[in-house]
Amino acid sequence: MLLGCIADDLTGATDLALMLTRNGMRTIQVMGVPDADVSLEGADAVVVALKSRTNPAEEAVRWSLQSADALRAAGARQIFFKYCSTFDSTDKGNIGPVAEALLEHLKGEIALVCPAFPANKRTVYLGHLFVGDVLLHESPMKDHPLTPMRDSNLVRVLQRQTRLKVGLVPYSVVDQGAEAIGKAFAEAAGNGTRFVVVDALQDRHLVEMGRAAADHPLITGGSGVAMGLPDNFERKGLLKKSPPATHIKAPQGRAVILAGSCSEATRGQIRAAQAAGLPAFKLDPFALAKGQVGAADVLSWASQQTPDTPILVYSSDEPENVRAAQAELGREEAGAMIERELATIARGLVEAGFSRLIVAGGETSGAVVGALGIKALEIGPEIDPGVPWTRSKEGQGLVLALKSGNFGSPDFFLKAWKLLE
Ligand code: ADP
Repeated sequence: MLLGCIADDLTGATDLALMLTRNGMRTIQVMGVPDADVSLEGADAVVVALKSRTNPAEEAVRWSLQSADALRAAGARQIFFKYCSTFDSTDKGNIGPVAEALLEHLKGEIALVCPAFPANKRTVYLGHLFVGDVLLHESPMKDHPLTPMRDSNLVRVLQRQTRLKVGLVPYSVVDQGAEAIGKAFAEAAGNGTRFVVVDALQDRHLVEMGRAAADHPLITGGSGVAMGLPDNFERKGLLKKSPPATHIKAPQGRAVILAGSCSEATRGQIRAAQAAGLPAFKLDPFALAKGQVGAADVLSWASQQTPDTPILVYSSDEPENVRAAQAELGREEAGAMIERELATIARGLVEAGFSRLIVAGGETSGAVVGALGIKALEIGPEIDPGVPWTRSKEGQGLVLALKSGNFGSPDFFLKAWKLLE
């Protein structure tokens, strides 16, 4: 194992694992701090999926350090700390506290900081993060319920989260390539700077900064920065690249789509699946809260459907209906209740012989994977940007596609199955 990664949420971890796989590293994703009974054998890279974006900073730091130790014990030569391409964090953290603790723990001199992902229109110029055509603080991220981003200057944002000195490697240097970036790293380290935000407008910039950081014990960034890291290991003669999977072996069994995301993309995918005739069961939060409907009803309904097509179970709804449910039941309570129910349904369906699952929604995916007791996932072929098929390492190997709400094309729920063998 060469590269050990720590991601601050589940679908972010999958996104990173896919990036590494696509660039030639055999990658395993592990849920939570790896314990002794999870096998990390046979992987070039391991991505630990934590849920450490918004929990107390001390806890995020503890889990991250424990993960780094486990990854290094399994052979990792470099640690990558992955956060969101919109730098999701509060003034208290957790990007700063976790990055700082990792840098000290790994005895690193300096670490780069770059959430850029040009393919998804996240770019950094003079330390300012752009989302599409607008600055971060003018993007929808300004209203995020948990991590509202109201400052686009990443040097400032990070400096509020850490006592270590934060600097910048600007575009004019980055554009000259790895050697110039490396010199800028050395100069910054020489004047006591420990973190450098690095500009990136194109993939090429991500690859060059990765190359310049080949010998850093710690790299921090979005999944974009990981693009160039497999090449570093190949250049050192440590990695023999493997082509990414085009198909994945799936056990016999029925297929289900579980959707808890209310994003526009997921609602469109549900409409397309219904238009194509997939049997669908809609979970109504009011009926759920009153106990008028529940997992048992869904399981009994599922057993009466034809086994020949995937079935769809969803709670996803239009924004005004979601607001109404939240007003009546409470925002977190409504969310947690639906996540719990979908997770119970997932467990029941797997017991009834379902073995192929698409789950839509980041939090929803976390709840389902937790309820199924899945500890590690192999990364298979990419269905759409950022979403691969995965197979659980334990048991008979369920196949799962864990989709962040907004990802995927309108026919995602219909076409994804074609990549299963
Ligand atoms: P996304 O990836 O789109 O953010 P998540 O699964 O992370 O999706 O978040 C969606 C949240 O909305 C979950 O907590 C889910 O339980 C909740 N939810 C789903 N359907 C409804 C609904 N009809 N009313 C209120 N909340 C809902």
